Amino acid sequence: MNYYSTNNNSPVVNFKDATINGQAPDKGLYFPEFIPALPEGLIENIEGLSNEEIAFRIIQPYVGNTIPEDVLKTIVTETVNFSIPLVPVTDSISSLELYHGPTLAFKDIGARFMSRCLSYFVRNENKKVTVLVATSGDTGGAVANGFYDVPNVDVIILYPSGKVSSVQEKQLTTLGKNIHALEINGTFDDCQQMVKNAFMDEELTGKIFLTSANSINVARWLPQQFYYFFAYKQWADKTDPPVISVPSGNFGNICAGILAQASGLPVKHFIAACNANDVVPRFLDTNQYQPKKAVATISNAMDVGEPSNFVRILKIFSENVADLKTKLSGWSVSDEQTKATIKLVFEEEGYLLDPHGAVGYFALNEYLRDHPEEKGLVIETAHPVKFYDVVEPVIGTKVVIPAVVEEQLKLEKKSVWMENDYESLKGYLLKK
Ligand SMILES: *Cc1c(COP(=O)(O)O)cnc(C)c1O
Repeated sequence: MNYYSTNNNSPVVNFKDATINGQAPDKGLYFPEFIPALPEGLIENIEGLSNEEIAFRIIQPYVGNTIPEDVLKTIVTETVNFSIPLVPVTDSISSLELYHGPTLAFKDIGARFMSRCLSYFVRNENKKVTVLVATSGDTGGAVANGFYDVPNVDVIILYPSGKVSSVQEKQLTTLGKNIHALEINGTFDDCQQMVKNAFMDEELTGKIFLTSANSINVARWLPQQFYYFFAYKQWADKTDPPVISVPSGNFGNICAGILAQASGLPVKHFIAACNANDVVPRFLDTNQYQPKKAVATISNAMDVGEPSNFVRILKIFSENVADLKTKLSGWSVSDEQTKATIKLVFEEEGYLLDPHGAVGYFALNEYLRDHPEEKGLVIETAHPVKFYDVVEPVIGTKVVIPAVVEEQLKLEKKSVWMENDYESLKGYLLKK
């Protein structure tokens, strides 16, 4: 499989180079030259296949010969080695819990897969690769955990001081070894700008081998297809596939689901569930695509004003917007609606959603009201404990903290304090 740039102005590359480059040189996103059809019998026999087997068969055509079969099998086995249950909440709504991985959010899947691929690709390099990433919260923990103790890879995470939750901060500052956290006296946008400056600094990139681990990397995006298949495997009525609601920010997750559908996974309809950052729902209503500055909400991992991956969704539909609208609906959900949903579902169904999952649940419930004969599932992207500061006041009780988090909260934070100043970052990177 080769990948071209969505800006059409860069050389075509294989999976290895797409992973190492992250973004194409013309600043476009890499996109597969074609969408492979599913292996024969995969859907018909899905209940008899293990998650490892499904994941391997899905990803193999995208990886091609850049990773040998036995290595790729090990990589997918390590990627999906935690449970991903589909839990019924009401008669018509189930929740696909993607938060049983090490950092309690769905980003574990993409980060684990990408880190292992990158580690394989650089195994014979005599210099280290430095992964540089800015985080507003969940990405940092997932990337830190995914790359922890991976040979030949150093990870530098920039995070905004005082603007991530305490669980999130501990997840990215307590590992040590090859994981380094820089606590920036600034906002997420400042962190992102410092990272961008580093990638554009030729003096720096001439001296150290820098790469990124953000969500536009194909090795983070493509494995997110896996759990849409795991959901279908657990879906009771195979003759009547689910409506799937995806809490969306940068649109990588839902784009992977739509890709899975395009390759043959039965899905009735997709819902892009957004918070107040509603660029895509607006586009679906008005045909006007108008990126805006992100506004802060209680589902903060979705506070994205210009979703990078939407261009990939358009590619899947060959830019045919009319066709896209038959498969995708959009919803914008307010913080008040999100909180009311957390409270209602907790009190009436005994099920606790996190703020992101609650956005998805609200949108799905609205959709099913207009389509009462259908059933659906919401992608629950994070464990409610990650957002206990939001959730606890809403439900009026404490959230049970899982043992692994309890242990993590006891560990000592190790970070390097840094002003919002690119020269400080450059000096730090050159000294390492
Ligand atoms: C990152 C994230 C999202 C948004 O996913 P995208 O792929 O950026 O659309 C939703 N929920 C949680 C908990 C996240 O961490």
